[in-house]
Amino acid sequence: MAKTSPRRSTSPASVVAVFPGSFDPLTNGHVDIIDRSVTIFGRVVVGVLNNPSKNALFSDQERVDLIKRQVSRYKGRVSVVSFSGLLVDFVKSVNSRVVIRGLRAISDFDYEAQMALINRKLSPDVETFFLAAREENSYISSTVVKQVALLGGDVSDMVPPVVERALKEKWRAKQSVSRRGVR
Ligand code: ADP
Repeated sequence: MAKTSPRRSTSPASVVAVFPGSFDPLTNGHVDIIDRSVTIFGRVVVGVLNNPSKNALFSDQERVDLIKRQVSRYKGRVSVVSFSGLLVDFVKSVNSRVVIRGLRAISDFDYEAQMALINRKLSPDVETFFLAAREENSYISSTVVKQVALLGGDVSDMVPPVVERALKEKWRAKQSVSRRGVR
């Protein structure tokens, strides 16, 4: 029988973990996952997926800048990097083998389990860790936040203040475009 060689164990405090996503925009759900990951892993790299086929509200650079402002309190333990291409390649490029994903509900599970299995197939060394969303964040998604904010609704309970301000600017810009269109 083929023997599997035992893996060297590593202390979590020395591990770099990658938290990937679209973050269009960052929500309180994402912030909570980052905050909790920092208490477990030594360093967290937030990987902002640059996906030109997705119709994003915030540009790649805007999404990175908003997250950087939010995580500046961690003084270098959290970095924010934009990436494109395969997640497993990005994970290796930052000397990591740990992916963190948040799980909101059972409905997230199918997709997330499939992605974790595909990533393991592509790179058996990469492990995916799931953190359960906090109950109070479990209804929050970037999509819902955008829908409410662009209709002028209050999203202050769903996003950090820095994102709330940026969403208000997007809303004002949208208002002035539609006013010009009416004239
Ligand atoms: P993606 O397009 O890759 O799903 P998102 O920006 O929507 O990117 O989400 C990034 C990660 O954050 C995913 O693991 C997602 O499940 C998790 N996440 C999203 N919203 C929440 C939330 N409210 N609470 C906890 N985790 C969340």
